Amino acid sequence: MLDIEKIRADYPILDRKIYGRPLVYLDNTATSQTPDEVVKSVLSGYTQTKANVHRGVHTLSMEATELQEAARRKVMEFINAPSAEEIIFTRGTTEAINLVAASYGGAFFKDGDEIILSVMEHHSNIVPWQLLQRRTDLKIRVIPAKADGSLDMDIYRSLFNERTRFVSVCHASNVLGTVNPIKEIVAEAHNHGVPVLIDGAQAAPHMKIDVQDLDADFYAFSAHKMYGPAGVGVLFGRRELLEKMPPYQGGGEMIESVSFEKTTFAELPYKFEAGTPDFIGIAALHKAIDYMESIGIEAIAAHEHELLEYTTLRMTEEIPGIRIFGTAPGKCAIISFLVGNEHHYDMGMLLDKLGIAVRTGHHCAQPLMTALGIEGTVRASFAVYNTIEECDRFLAALSRVSEMLR
Ligand code: PMP
Repeated sequence: MLDIEKIRADYPILDRKIYGRPLVYLDNTATSQTPDEVVKSVLSGYTQTKANVHRGVHTLSMEATELQEAARRKVMEFINAPSAEEIIFTRGTTEAINLVAASYGGAFFKDGDEIILSVMEHHSNIVPWQLLQRRTDLKIRVIPAKADGSLDMDIYRSLFNERTRFVSVCHASNVLGTVNPIKEIVAEAHNHGVPVLIDGAQAAPHMKIDVQDLDADFYAFSAHKMYGPAGVGVLFGRRELLEKMPPYQGGGEMIESVSFEKTTFAELPYKFEAGTPDFIGIAALHKAIDYMESIGIEAIAAHEHELLEYTTLRMTEEIPGIRIFGTAPGKCAIISFLVGNEHHYDMGMLLDKLGIAVRTGHHCAQPLMTALGIEGTVRASFAVYNTIEECDRFLAALSRVSEMLR
């Protein structure tokens, strides 16, 4: 059993009062809170080791570089990547996907080519591919979802043809909580010789990721959703693919030599890391991973699952008119819902007045909303520091708000 009270003591923000009531933070899918030791790492980065990485022979610069490269090795172990050179630091999942779309798609997609996305993608796994359509006549084919929020794998298999060049899907949906059968998705794509990018933004905080076991070609995630700092993300890429991809951005750090006549590029991973990275945030991501591992990723997932089950059951039994979107088995700890005809925004605003932080709206997944025939949902999502008592407060507040609006 986790000692949740001890865990909560690492998060001063959880002691805040909102409108005089204790904060119940259930917007973890958008971003999770950051424990003291990760914050301390950022502070020490600024107060003790700040120097630009890779450029200096002086001690501070070497220390800062070592912190960054140790973080790269940590991320490699965390997702079981074959080598640290295949770990590229980005600003987040969004930038990681843009990098692959612009570099891989920009270099290798031709007019008439097709890619496969799923209906439950976040805008960050839709729009970067659409940007390519400005210069390439690229067709986007979409895997639909079934009523329970799981992907229709039969339709997925039927979407391949000789023009299919790429598949990009989320590991877990930020709206439905669905955990997609990634190994099956990848195996099918590889049967057709097609590489796969996995948007792991909602998976990395909740489950053990093994990119070799998944046989992933690309895997992207964000530090801020896994108890880490904002502004840092990771792209894992398979070496053979990264080697043949052109740079995404140009600048310092990513070159081998520059002249006005000819510039050559640095080796992996630096070829894809133009400019000064957020080396302090990257070192803090290292601490965030240490933090998750010190609790145990399975233990985090089990705790969140208990909160999910408890809350879902009580919502279903106690809130008249409740509709939950996403009921597939094995989903992660996200509950998207509507109550009767009440507007999600009104519910979210009233819940906030009672101290409950939930997200409302389309959750950057408008195509999914369209497929569901709704404009948005209310979304409650859990992290390791949430408690059953907080679920009770949320349920009581939801009951009150639903009655008020009825
Ligand atoms: N994909 C998914 C599934 C997400 O949930 C999010 C964040 N909500 C993103 C991508 C984008 O992540 P970021 O904003 O950190 O780049």
